[in-house]
Amino acid sequence: MPGKAGLIGDAMAYVTEYTCSGCGLELVDDGRVFVWDDEHGWTEDFLLLMMTYQKLHGAKIAGKVSESYCRDCSKYVKVYSITEAIDCIDDPCKVVMDGIRNYIEKCGRELSRLKEIRKKSQYSITREDNHYVVRIPGYEHFFYSNYLFPSMTKEEVIEDALNDFHEEIDEVIAAREKRYQRYLDSHYMVIDERKRPEDDFDLSEKVNCPECGLEISRYVDYRIPCPRCGDHIFGMGIHYD
Ligand SMILES: [Zn+2]
Ligand SMILES: [Zn+2]
Repeated sequence: MPGKAGLIGDAMAYVTEYTCSGCGLELVDDGRVFVWDDEHGWTEDFLLLMMTYQKLHGAKIAGKVSESYCRDCSKYVKVYSITEAIDCIDDPCKVVMDGIRNYIEKCGRELSRLKEIRKKSQYSITREDNHYVVRIPGYEHFFYSNYLFPSMTKEEVIEDALNDFHEEIDEVIAAREKRYQRYLDSHYMVIDERKRPEDDFDLSEKVNCPECGLEISRYVDYRIPCPRCGDHIFGMGIHYD
């Protein structure tokens, strides 16, 4: 079920990926949450997992994100529902909306930075105890030779480490690019639902596209026809710890 069970649950995400049998549209229901990061001024959305759980603590604004689609705009529509906010913020919807823009820009900068690191592929190699360590400036992971040393030459270690690095960073870049593109392909709306009771949830709820006003389903579910073509959509569930 999309999102109306309190923000802090078991810190384990249940993700359902939906695909339309008619037009192939892909939508995700992953119980995504968001926080407004007052330090950086951005609104970050993420899956609620063990490792991301603590981002909720102390957040000045927090809530849930659901995803739909507007067929007139050919864009995804992301609905940010504020469920918690401290009182002294006058217009939390505007704050969250500005934060979304800032966050998308930040993701774009991050992506460029990673591509730059990939392009340069600079490295340093040091010998530490019984192995070589290869570090890539600006990249958080490092690579080291372990049991292969000393049967490998230094050059072989470098070649090996760079291969591993390229494989890893290419995957990271591809995943980030996909996510970034999804942000760019979306319209955003922010609703203040702090006063709405937690159990007031209706799967068939509609919202209006923030760009063109078309009435669309707020949630995605196999019981709701495809928002693009009206055909049947089917879902596949995946658990993340
Ligand atoms: Zn629209
Ligand atoms: Zn469809």
